[in-house]
Amino acid sequence: MANENILVIGGGPTGLEAAKGIADLGYKAILVEKRERLGGTPDASGYAALTPDMRDAGEAMDEMRAAVENNPNVEIMLNTEVTGAEGETGNFKVKAKSAGNEVEIEAGAVIIATGFTHFDPGRETQKYGYYEHDDVLTLVDAEKMLKEGNFVRPSNGEKPKRVAFIQCVGSRDRQIGNEYCSKVCCGISSKQAIEVREMVPDCKVFIFYIDMRMYGYWENEIYWPAQEKHKVNYIKGMATEIIKKGDHLIVKGEDTTMRRPMEVPMDMVILAVGMEPSAGTRQVADIFGVKKNQYNFIETIGGALNTVSTNVEGVFAAGACTGPSDLEDCISAAGSAVMKSIAAVRRVAVPA
Ligand SMILES: Cc1cc2nc3c(=O)[nH]c(=O)nc-3n(C[C@H](O)[C@H](O)[C@H](O)COP(=O)(O)OP(=O)(O)OC[C@H]3O[C@@H](n4cnc5c(N)ncnc54)[C@H](O)[C@@H]3O)c2cc1C
Ligand code: SF4
Repeated sequence: MANENILVIGGGPTGLEAAKGIADLGYKAILVEKRERLGGTPDASGYAALTPDMRDAGEAMDEMRAAVENNPNVEIMLNTEVTGAEGETGNFKVKAKSAGNEVEIEAGAVIIATGFTHFDPGRETQKYGYYEHDDVLTLVDAEKMLKEGNFVRPSNGEKPKRVAFIQCVGSRDRQIGNEYCSKVCCGISSKQAIEVREMVPDCKVFIFYIDMRMYGYWENEIYWPAQEKHKVNYIKGMATEIIKKGDHLIVKGEDTTMRRPMEVPMDMVILAVGMEPSAGTRQVADIFGVKKNQYNFIETIGGALNTVSTNVEGVFAAGACTGPSDLEDCISAAGSAVMKSIAAVRRVAVPA
């Protein structure tokens, strides 16, 4: 007999939304998460406020968690990683390791929601001195400081007077092979720039960009208020190197509007790191024989009309494991994966 349970791998925003959707439709979701907590990268990286509405990220993840915890239609397996899989739609047998124990999970379909990882700005091609200079941070580091309400220079604990964001670190970069745009970092930098201006009002904030990519309503919700209300300075320029000079950092590069080299002193620099597939995404794709694209994100096969089906029937992928995505993308993809996975198990369980 066909199994109608749906296995969801990854307990981030996408997996949480998928598990909730499956449960709401009266089916059973088995939600496997390798961390000790649900909530995905926003929880693991301690995001402060979410774009575009500045909602408290912790509170938003609590709400998503609450919808699946104590839900009779959701079985949650924490500290658990998938190690092997066989079978087909209606009859998958998936091996998982949980605190040393091997368990077997039976499911009719699978939704992979294993997400992304932040680009490591310390790679050899990167000349930003992330691991050398205390006052060079990433968006993730800055997010933690903003969450704690203590935005100071790590080198001396003082409030900064000049802060720069450098866009497209690890994205839109042919040299390292990440030609794609990570989609969220322009919005997140602008959001953080507003937060810095609010927290340290006499600090000047600069954003060095190739071009600003604000999607949809974020233009009006974040970009224009950042410039007009919060006086954030946007500078079209390529920052290529950061060096330390005395007590300051010097951002070197080219001002592309003025077409001249630039060297600007800063107290802190925040690197807008992009998204890469998580190690879990690569592993789980290989376990299920799911194709990855040239960047190692999971390849979905239906183009714009079907963003969740993979080359393996009965195995779907949603959210940031398929490519750079914001939360709205993740929630939409989760809904689509729920619909298609339930349709797949029903086709086997209740043939037409
Ligand atoms: C710096 C930064 C800030 C951001 N801020 C915002 C914002 O303000 N607003 C917004 O809309 N978007 C934001 N985003 C994007 C947002 O973080 C992603 O859209 C979202 O987290 C993706 O959700 P996900 O569930 O697909 O993946 P993730 O959040 O990455 O969750 C994946 C989950 O899968 C688990 N997992 C991985 N491998 C395995 C495995 N093998 N077995 C079991 N579990 C596994 C992980 O532990 C994790 O819990 C930001 C991104 C960045 C880079
Ligand atoms: S969203 Fe902005 S910072 Fe991020 S990769 Fe795209 S253009 Fe660069």
